[in-house]
Amino acid sequence: MKKEKRSKIVICSGKGGVGKSMLASALAVLFAIDKKIVAVDCDVDAPNLAIWLGGVRKWDKAIKVFASARPEIDFKKCNGCGLCAEKCYFGAIEIIKGKPRVNPFLCEGCGACEVLCPQRAIKMKTIQNAKILIKNTKYGFPLISGQLFVGETGSGKIVTEIKKEAEKFDYDIQIIDSAPGTGCPVIASLQDSNFVILITEPTPSGFSDLKRVLKVVNHFNIPYGVVVNKWDLNENLSRRIKKWANRKFLGKISYDKKIFQSIANLVPIMETDLKAKREIESIFERINSFTK
Ligand code: SF4
Ligand code: SF4
Repeated sequence: MKKEKRSKIVICSGKGGVGKSMLASALAVLFAIDKKIVAVDCDVDAPNLAIWLGGVRKWDKAIKVFASARPEIDFKKCNGCGLCAEKCYFGAIEIIKGKPRVNPFLCEGCGACEVLCPQRAIKMKTIQNAKILIKNTKYGFPLISGQLFVGETGSGKIVTEIKKEAEKFDYDIQIIDSAPGTGCPVIASLQDSNFVILITEPTPSGFSDLKRVLKVVNHFNIPYGVVVNKWDLNENLSRRIKKWANRKFLGKISYDKKIFQSIANLVPIMETDLKAKREIESIFERINSFTK
């Protein structure tokens, strides 16, 4: 990551609930002290960066996203042959009383039925499947968040749309809170990024998932660092992860129930006097040293 350039730092984890959004929110606040920041929540299935930044009562702007499609059936053309129902891989079409009916919660919008229908009775219709929300936070930087609608698909495409909105802002650093795992939204979050922070907790599944997401990061050849959250839950394993990460180890965050109490009251971690706050400040210093 070169300091003189605009940069994108992505916070990733192999699994959910390991402190990704907490760390992303705190780093956004710390970087904002002397840099232009855009905070970007790309976890469109469960966006909560806004909560870690103190909550949003009213968003400044909402943008409709049309990034999915559903089949529309012309019953004047349809002869009820049932081919669409037979071939739909997702079982989203049922023939009821000789007529096809689409279950929107099962439909993935793949468009196969449109191609296969011998009567050309099916046309794919673009639908709104998400919204992008923008808020200028009390810290002076904008937060861009997205919300995939319930039962909708296409989270990777929504992330791409969110990132396009983020690019419209003047910034030095984008802090991107990725979805957990290794799926489409994560790959879309990692695209064009300069540095990745992998956060995990000291559990065997957390460590295993960390290695899986690292394979994706390495595939894109992006520099990275590792943070262990809830360090003291299993210090032996925490130390093993630190040793495994070697020079990539950025720091630790201790487990503290008070973190959850503060966030339940919408008090951001950087506005507390908890030990975790000081530990995140050390991580921030180390990231800064990585970027020099
Ligand atoms: S494949 Fe076409 S014609 Fe056959 S049931 Fe489906 S929509 Fe109707
Ligand atoms: S668009 Fe794809 S998933 Fe949806 S009903 Fe047609 S074939 Fe099935």
